Amino acid sequence: MQNKREQLLNISQQLVRMGLNRGTAGNASVRADNAEGQTGFLITPSGLAANKMTPSDMVWIDFAGNATGTRPPSSEWRFHLDILQNKPQVNAVIHTHSIYASTFSTFRMDMPPFHYMIALAGGDSIRCAPYALFGSQQLSDNAIEALKDRKACLLANHGMIAVGETLEKALDITQEVETLCEQYLLALQAGEPHILSQQEMLDVLEKFKSYGAWTETRADNK
Ligand code: 13P
Ligand code: ZN
Repeated sequence: MQNKREQLLNISQQLVRMGLNRGTAGNASVRADNAEGQTGFLITPSGLAANKMTPSDMVWIDFAGNATGTRPPSSEWRFHLDILQNKPQVNAVIHTHSIYASTFSTFRMDMPPFHYMIALAGGDSIRCAPYALFGSQQLSDNAIEALKDRKACLLANHGMIAVGETLEKALDITQEVETLCEQYLLALQAGEPHILSQQEMLDVLEKFKSYGAWTETRADNK
């Protein structure tokens, strides 16, 4: 079983391999207690490319914002802290400057349900948080608002945030949101896509509650 520092490193490098982050853009965090049992989280260091990071570069931060590590924590530690504090069921946060999410974020608009997979992010839209300076408390406040009842949001003129119970689940959401941004940008170039109705999205959200469970049950019963 990998320790959390290694898990965080692996996810950061996976984000680069998948083309979801480049250079020093983006960051990730995972909830973790320190050796004394204090609650907090591990976050990637600031300004270091994922392929140059080692497990010991990860920085531990408590919920008062005190950092322990050999490098400075990601400049976005405020929104990682606020999200983990605000959403008890979330244990991992991923932030990317992926191409399609960043491009779509420059329109500063919420993504409507042009595709049913929008529901994967928890509702009938993916909100775009208003622009604020990177690393600022204002950006964190805007992100918290946009992430209400959601597992992902866009950050205007910046990128996206995706959250999950685990780093793997947050990565799945990241990948899906990037795909949706690519699809929606393409659709907008071709014309005016049809948008699903509120009822159609409620039906999807309902069906998602059992999505994936059936195959597991079948496999168990074989
Ligand atoms: P860090 O290198 O400080 O994590 O910053 C990258 C980033 O995406 C800022 O928004
Ligand atoms: Zn960023």
